[in-house]
Amino acid sequence: MKVKGAVNIFNEYVFSDFEKQLFVIIADEAKKLNYPSYIVGGYVRDKLLLRDNKKDIDFVCIGSGIELALNVAKKLGKNIHVSVFKNFGTAHFKYNGIDLEFVGARKESYNRDSRKPVVENGTLEDDQNRRDFTMNALAISLNENNYGEIIDPFHGISDIENKIIRTPLDPVITFSDDPLRMMRAIRFATELHFIIEEKTFNGIKESAERINIISPERITDELNKIILSDIPSKGFYLLHESGLLKYIFPEMIDLVGVEMQDGRGHKDNFYHTLEVLDNISLNTNDLWLRWAAVLHDIAKPATKRYFEKQGWAFHGHEVVGSRMVKGIFKRMRLPLDAKMKFVEKMVLLHLRPISLTKENVTDSAIRRLLFDAGEDIESLMLLCKADITTKNRLKVKRYSDNFEMVRQKLKDVEEHDKIQNFQPPVSGELIMKTFNVNPGRKVGLIKDHIKEAILDGIIPNEYEAAYQLMLKKGAELGLTPQHK
Ligand code: ATP
Ligand code: MG
Repeated sequence: MKVKGAVNIFNEYVFSDFEKQLFVIIADEAKKLNYPSYIVGGYVRDKLLLRDNKKDIDFVCIGSGIELALNVAKKLGKNIHVSVFKNFGTAHFKYNGIDLEFVGARKESYNRDSRKPVVENGTLEDDQNRRDFTMNALAISLNENNYGEIIDPFHGISDIENKIIRTPLDPVITFSDDPLRMMRAIRFATELHFIIEEKTFNGIKESAERINIISPERITDELNKIILSDIPSKGFYLLHESGLLKYIFPEMIDLVGVEMQDGRGHKDNFYHTLEVLDNISLNTNDLWLRWAAVLHDIAKPATKRYFEKQGWAFHGHEVVGSRMVKGIFKRMRLPLDAKMKFVEKMVLLHLRPISLTKENVTDSAIRRLLFDAGEDIESLMLLCKADITTKNRLKVKRYSDNFEMVRQKLKDVEEHDKIQNFQPPVSGELIMKTFNVNPGRKVGLIKDHIKEAILDGIIPNEYEAAYQLMLKKGAELGLTPQHK
């Protein structure tokens, strides 16, 4: 690390001209107000880590953060809208796509049963004390006498150097004041590949139950960031080990462990799920596909049965699992829209591609898979591939060979039959017009019959063949075409 003690960070690290000019303007405005001011928080941490973080910068001043924000915004341009949060003493505005947040230095104390802090004005030191981790409590001075100096009362620089997450105060106090910090510790450990210092981790273990006072939205924000990390399993292991997981995601706890009967066990589904999640994370940054990996086997505990002949089985876990998605999404305040539907669909279909083996990869099975997966077929294939976690090399080879064969077949069949964006070649309107009937059961039966015939390869996915089949099925149902 290049910064030790009283050196000017602006001479040691790379800052864009934009950043440097912005800080000079803020320093100027703060000086006019006679407010000592500092850059604080994640921006400083990420700068020392050489991590590109241009999305938000936090400033703290000894005085009114709101007044400073208003003056800076005025200086920067006419039409900048400043959002002021009087109750929190903070103000925020966006400038050149960056979120700038200003706060007056605060001293906080918390009521044990609520998240509402009692806030008083404080010194820089008070403000640094109330921050979550030593690495997040660094401040860069914007004041004339020591411009660019890093103020590091808790040895945050050395913790960053050693990749250590540690609370500035006694961890039990820090976590009890705001239990979300426990989630943040694990999220940062996962995102930054840091280690949580032992006393701090023990503090999480001790305070884990207090996570229950935090709103699901805030917990889910952190959980999503864990899921979006390079190696998300690390976060889940820490959540489990710390005791937090059972409060925030009990369904995952049910996946832990191996049951034995007649000397036979099944695989540990917690471990397996996390392997699948890490696997898929190598190939996608899509949060919802990663969620599908988290949830793909979620119903294994609920469907587990032991059969004397075959051993352990989890029949129907994909169906039951896909029905569990909504409840989990609701509780975690995840969106109940198309994204949830996508996750449900992935969980429901996750066994389909791999269940096709050499003997039964018929065109019709492929067409049905294409029809059911639709535009999400690529995502499903990624999930399915990630799901191969067996250590048995022969099995891996067999699964992978099958998988590649399915992939090739999918391509061939789709090129030929265009099933993926299936539009019935004969519409409901045409059926009604042809037989002069109203919407109803018979129209549905005819449409279904045509669809099934196409998927089974009895007729091609074309208008003329579908029209003829419509006439035939109509006749079976006692309908006659009305000729004009
Ligand atoms: P990132 O932006 O990458 O999520 P960050 O550390 O910048 O990380 P923010 O939520 O932007 O996180 O918060 C900015 C700073 O505010 C933090 O660095 C920390 O100093 C402080 N902070 C945020 N949340 C808390 C909290 N729950 N308890 C104590 N301090 C916090
Ligand atoms: Mg930030």
